[in-house]
Amino acid sequence: MTDVLETDVMAALKQVNDPERGQDIVSLGMITGLSIREGHVGFAIEVDRARGPKLEPLRRAAEKAVEALPGVLSVSAVLTAEAPPRPAAQPAHGHAHGAPQAEKPAVPGVKHIIAVASGKGGVGKSTTAANLALALAAIGRKVGVLDADIYGPSMPRMLGITGKPTTRDGKTLEPMRNFGLACMSMGFLVAEDTPMIWRGPMVQSALSQMLRDVNWGELDVMVVDMPPGTGDAQLTMAQQVPLAGAVIVSTPQDIALLDARKGLNMFRKVNVPVLGFIENMSYFLCPKCGERTDIFSHGGARKEAEKLGTEFLGELPLDVVIRETSDSGRPIVASQPDSPHAKVYKQIATRIWEKLSGAERKTPRIVVQ
Ligand code: ADP
Repeated sequence: MTDVLETDVMAALKQVNDPERGQDIVSLGMITGLSIREGHVGFAIEVDRARGPKLEPLRRAAEKAVEALPGVLSVSAVLTAEAPPRPAAQPAHGHAHGAPQAEKPAVPGVKHIIAVASGKGGVGKSTTAANLALALAAIGRKVGVLDADIYGPSMPRMLGITGKPTTRDGKTLEPMRNFGLACMSMGFLVAEDTPMIWRGPMVQSALSQMLRDVNWGELDVMVVDMPPGTGDAQLTMAQQVPLAGAVIVSTPQDIALLDARKGLNMFRKVNVPVLGFIENMSYFLCPKCGERTDIFSHGGARKEAEKLGTEFLGELPLDVVIRETSDSGRPIVASQPDSPHAKVYKQIATRIWEKLSGAERKTPRIVVQ
């Protein structure tokens, strides 16, 4: 299968012009949240709120341009709009529309909401989110998963859930359930691999509906699988959800770490505490002999976390078992709860819960070998 490259997608999108602004949509900086997964491409086109409804043809033209590339199996483009700007005369923490705190009232019944984020796609953010949610459940917490990766939802597949959510009262949706987790994802609301036809105010409202119009019930922790990247769309989401903290997933490569730093800065900008870094695909575990091989810059996330004054929460190897289990809807924490990797996820979950519940002890520190 031909690999689809980010540069090719951007080059194709550069051929699409915004008719009113007389320039192409890439040069205008309108493309955010690009994700490419095995030939499935997703991205958002940021537009002025007022123009949103008129821009369906532009959205379709962008999808067509990318669909024409070799190797592309599906394209999901969504229109997004920035929240209306805060009027300049308003005090910084007044209840003005658009003020960060005013926009994110708590979700009733949900004690703590945490984001699992990454600076770029493909680092294993969703795999980590699914396993962390299961690990939090395994240590006795009530857990929900909100798949906010609206461009490329992967929770239905990773948690092995199919079907459509039901409603009891015609107003709120019941979350889907598996492995003791409650879960909501765009993947349940639109068929997998079909382009999402989203008109109107679009992505933000989808997120806020999944957050507030779902019967989450009583939860200790809601784990939000964020869309990859640190663009404006992600920033808006980080602002919209009342987050107690964020966990940043990174691979050891420096380039990913640079991205991870951007992720950290994004959350700091919106006053969300970063609970720590997780290094994923940290070293390679040979499936045949069990031998461990370090990958180029293994340990980068630990160093970077120290440098940035945030905690290093743990590391997971590049292991085919992690891939196979998460890609087949039986994440390793659920299917092999006593395996060494599941134990690492549980250690990380324990540490996260300590931090969230304020029961932080100075010693012993978690040591992950
Ligand atoms: P992201 O959410 O960052 O785009 P995913 O969680 O979808 O990334 O992971 C991308 C791919 O990598 C998936 O096929 C997943 O199963 C695989 N993967 C994730 N973490 C690991 C790991 N530690 N070892 C092996 N494969 C992994």
